[in-house]
Amino acid sequence: LLGYIGIDTIIEQMRKKTMKAGFDFNIMIVGQSGLGKSTLVNTLFKSQVSRWSAAWGGEFKLPKTVEIKAVSHVIEEGGVKMKLTVIDTPGFGDQINNDNCWEPISKYINEQYEKFLKEEVNIARKKRIPDTRVHCCLYFISPTGHSLRQLDIEFMKHLSRTVNIVPIIAKSDTMTPDEKNEFKQRVRKELEVCGIEFYPQKEFDDDMEDKNENDKIREAMPFAVVGSDKEYQVNGKRVLGRKTAWGVIEVENPIHCEFALLRDFLIRTHLQDLKEITHNIHYETYRAKRLNENGG
Ligand code: GDP
Ligand code: MG
Repeated sequence: LLGYIGIDTIIEQMRKKTMKAGFDFNIMIVGQSGLGKSTLVNTLFKSQVSRWSAAWGGEFKLPKTVEIKAVSHVIEEGGVKMKLTVIDTPGFGDQINNDNCWEPISKYINEQYEKFLKEEVNIARKKRIPDTRVHCCLYFISPTGHSLRQLDIEFMKHLSRTVNIVPIIAKSDTMTPDEKNEFKQRVRKELEVCGIEFYPQKEFDDDMEDKNENDKIREAMPFAVVGSDKEYQVNGKRVLGRKTAWGVIEVENPIHCEFALLRDFLIRTHLQDLKEITHNIHYETYRAKRLNENGG
């Protein structure tokens, strides 16, 4: 029979391999204490994946320096296993003097690239190199309504070429819709003026379709989110939300906040791309630099 060869079965073959092997996803959360980092990550992955606030004994026991803590969990849905690692950075931005507070975080990110590189150049290479590289850095902006702080600018300036940064406005239920929109606009403007490129970076759009899709996302960023681990009854349904003077803010209701937008973007549409940009661009930059040092 002439005609069909079967090239399109590659998709099914890839699906089977992914089902068997599972995949790694490593997400880092950065921002001052109390901005709702742990809560949001738990909301994103619907479980207690980030427990540091309890472990740290609440607000009174702040670490004296930035500590970096990675915790892994295996999450399974529809037969696909994801090894999720949440990298928390308690202490970031909590000091009186926050000069160079991006340094320990930059060091951690580069150490993961170095680990991967060591494995890659090994003669007896592992069939599958464990991937601890940070695929996404969620940067929490305080909902001040004014502007970015020097600390925010410094951090993103120093790291935007090393890791995929997704800036988000934390605890956005503390702002009115007008304040929120104004603040979002101002933050976007400031990022542009400072030359900070966040993910998805314009220069890595593959084609017009990519560009059009990502333009829409970039124009909507930074997403103003709300996190919660409490459920409320709304119209006979149990929903995650926060009770305020105006009623329950529903975390997953796109009219109430942009949590669902963020989740769809990070997990449902761009997870694979976050991994690819990390490998093909950020890791590659690191690798080229390191191999140059050695060769020269
Ligand atoms: P972290 O220190 O950044 O990890 O912050 P936590 O997740 O521990 O949250 C600190 C406090 O803020 C807790 O009391 C949370 O219930 C509260 N919180 C978390 N997310 C939100 C939010 O979106 N809006 C408001 N209003 N409070 C939040
Ligand atoms: Mg926390």
